[in-house]
Amino acid sequence: MRDGLYIGGRWEKPAAGGTFEVIDPATEQPIASVAAATAADVDRAVTAAAEALPAWKRTSGAERAKILRAIAEGIRARRDELAAIEVADNGKPLPEAKWDIDDTAGCFDFYAGLAEELDGRQEQPVAVGDPRFTSKVRREAVGVAGAIIPWNYPMLMAAWKVAPALAAGCTMVLKPSELTPLTALELGAIAGAAGLPAGVLNVVPGLGRDAGEPLTHHPRVDKLAFTGSLATGRRVMAAAAEDIKAVSLELGGKSPFLVFADSDVEAAVEWILFGIFWNQGQVCSATSRVLVERPLYDAVLERLVEESRKITIGGGLEEGVLLGPLVSRGQHEKVLGMIGEGVRDGAKVATGGRVPQRRDRGYFVEPTVLVDVPETSAAWREEIFGPVVCVKPFDGEAEGLRLANDSPYGLAAAVMSKDEERTERVARDLEAGIVWINCSQPTFSEAPWGGVKRSGIGRELGVWGLENYLTVKQVTRYASDEPWGWYIKG
Ligand code: NAD
Repeated sequence: MRDGLYIGGRWEKPAAGGTFEVIDPATEQPIASVAAATAADVDRAVTAAAEALPAWKRTSGAERAKILRAIAEGIRARRDELAAIEVADNGKPLPEAKWDIDDTAGCFDFYAGLAEELDGRQEQPVAVGDPRFTSKVRREAVGVAGAIIPWNYPMLMAAWKVAPALAAGCTMVLKPSELTPLTALELGAIAGAAGLPAGVLNVVPGLGRDAGEPLTHHPRVDKLAFTGSLATGRRVMAAAAEDIKAVSLELGGKSPFLVFADSDVEAAVEWILFGIFWNQGQVCSATSRVLVERPLYDAVLERLVEESRKITIGGGLEEGVLLGPLVSRGQHEKVLGMIGEGVRDGAKVATGGRVPQRRDRGYFVEPTVLVDVPETSAAWREEIFGPVVCVKPFDGEAEGLRLANDSPYGLAAAVMSKDEERTERVARDLEAGIVWINCSQPTFSEAPWGGVKRSGIGRELGVWGLENYLTVKQVTRYASDEPWGWYIKG
């Protein structure tokens, strides 16, 4: 385990000398003690990033790509170890953790490619209406970026911000979640070993209040990139307003999954399961509201309950486990509390809803299917962020869409039907940043990620993720030999 904060390419002691414990959610035992950053450390990290900026900004995209690819290689070389850290830190099953690590490396490779391409379009001419002038735009790095990330995909969420920021020529201070800081620290070490100049990436684990908040208020930070809850997102956006920092927010969701009556029941149930139980349902885009057209409702519900009961629950390193513990005691209490609230509001538990038997340690919750959840209940409207799906019947496309769009959130949505025209029409009318047709959750480094309504602003991944960290500068030249002649005549 790393001893310190990663600032200016070195492991530094925290100014206040504090540490915090990281707990394995499967055993409830501490697994590491991590240096806790406070405002003074964040200031040192931002200063290091600001000092590293001028030189890093001037490197070519090709030079940056070389380092990004070396980071990807460094991640791949330690794949099994990093996946095991992720399991102990977050609780997710090992195969999922390996998937995440592969995706993390892939994200660095993808942005290496975009960094190279950027060289070819760094400067582009702009046709202006007056022949005495020539004009062009230069794409430049936004500056020092502050990134704050959650605990559900600890290393992958770091990559979604670090990789495009470095590709664009920004420097960064990364604040991982206090629940899962370990792989972000390893990323700092891997980046250093890959040849990333000191200060370009700094990693400052700590509490939201002590380390996150000072980062959002720091005057030398030019851009804030935040992924987390709506409540914290609001505070980040308000802080960004002080110095007019650029800001992108990836917040929560309560994503609908519309299953039309012409769907194949087995395919529908497989994607519903994947959409809600992968990563213990701790997925911002989890399709947690399933709407089934009435003729298929009973058949889908019956098979969903049957298959949910077969899911093997256990510690992430145990063989065959498909559902691990939730990340923390707080999350465990929140999820069980929201199930209870739903039941008090009139919902029925079709399966699950409890702590599994024979699991007196670890933050486990059974795969849970709720039915008859009133549309006014928090269980229907708010993000539970656990293995809990609400299933409801609907009659016809218009009602399905109304129920699907009746949410303050708009991150993702899924639709299943054999009728291609219908799925295209529904995809157009769903209020969401991401729509999956005949599937749920597939995510690609190449495709934009982000939401509408209260799910956030801005997009990560793809070329859109790179644009987050770029700004354009207009450069206009007076190219005529004739004097301008407005004040000084002839
Ligand atoms: P959270 O908002 O509690 O914490 C997120 C991060 O913000 C953590 O690093 C935390 O330490 C920090 N933080 C807390 N208070 C802060 C403050 N006042 N100022 C600055 N930073 C502060 O969220 P969480 O519980 O870690 O994550 C779960 C949430 O993240 C869910 O709502 C989920 O939907 C969302 N999420 C969204 C996406 C997406 O892409 N849209 C992806 C993953 C998670």
